[in-house]
Amino acid sequence: MKKNPIKLGVIGVGHLGQHHVKHYCSIKDITLVGLFDTDEKQALKISKQYNIPIFDNLNKLISSVDAVSIVTPTIHHAEVAEYCLKMKKHVFIEKPITSTIREAENLIEIAKNKKKIIQVGHIERLNPALRALEPYQIKPAFIEFQRLAPYSERGTDVPVVLDKMIHDIDILLSLVNANVDSIEASGLSILTESIDIAHARIKFSNGCVASIMSSRISKNEVRKIKTFQQNLYTTIDLYKGLTEIYKIENNINSNQDYLLKVPFDYNGTKKHIIYEKPEIIKEDALRLELINFIYSIEGTEKPIVSGEAGRDALAVAIEIQEKITEGIK
Ligand code: NAD
Repeated sequence: MKKNPIKLGVIGVGHLGQHHVKHYCSIKDITLVGLFDTDEKQALKISKQYNIPIFDNLNKLISSVDAVSIVTPTIHHAEVAEYCLKMKKHVFIEKPITSTIREAENLIEIAKNKKKIIQVGHIERLNPALRALEPYQIKPAFIEFQRLAPYSERGTDVPVVLDKMIHDIDILLSLVNANVDSIEASGLSILTESIDIAHARIKFSNGCVASIMSSRISKNEVRKIKTFQQNLYTTIDLYKGLTEIYKIENNINSNQDYLLKVPFDYNGTKKHIIYEKPEIIKEDALRLELINFIYSIEGTEKPIVSGEAGRDALAVAIEIQEKITEGIK
């Protein structure tokens, strides 16, 4: 154990927060000081399960730690995170960062003034299948996202755009290094009063076009991405943990796996389609996120998803949601 291990607390220990507790319990060289949840029964259950003290008062927990995970429903993120940051604590905020841009901006400003870290829980960025793209130069001309999930009441306090699609929006913004030029979107309410199925087409200033479809009313879980660019096509299955790469190359070595046995001859240039399937090392993305948070506090890494990145994803999500609402009117 380090001399001064980082002291952490978890605020909100429901469906996801309990996993924050589980991982903090097993990460070396930190101390999970305690947890707080407004639902005393739930707090007691998780406290007993992991043998972690409950704090009956948020202020007492915050006063005892260096950093917190905020895993309350989204509507409470802004208020709880502002309180923690003002008390000079680093915050890991589950996604989406807040419900409004103004709230996100406010948190970013306070964090800057207090010199504290905001990290946002856009967990898919740590998905090993997505990380398998890192060795490749991804500069897509076109990207397609599909995210389908079986219906669950959890998360229906917000439209599917803010609950599910925001994961893909965040990935999209991390892959395309350009400003958003225009957004078209449409959506439907099926089971809830808010939007359950949504589609958006986003154009970027560098010409890239993205198509994103999300539904929370599906029989099966699907989370797929396809990227297309000159000489490179990739498919990523975030759910199954499978990444496939198709590259066009003029010269190949005999060890490479290629799809067309006879090269395609175009005006005298022989082109081969090379197929690669990078090895995916299965790791728990939430654990990796929390370790990244701890290393960021220690100053040896930077948050994979900063407060600014969380705000940018939220801004696009809100614009998509507004376009859908306008369309319905
Ligand atoms: P949940 O309803 O299961 O749990 C939330 C917990 O917070 C409950 O136990 C509730 O009693 C408690 N709570 C509510 N207000 C509180 C407050 N002011 N202070 C302390 N505790 C409070 O919700 P969940 O599914 O665990 O979602 C929590 C957050 O995590 C949401 O923002 C959600 O969007 C996000 N989430 C992210 C992912 C992901 O993939 N990264 C997945 C699921 C949920």
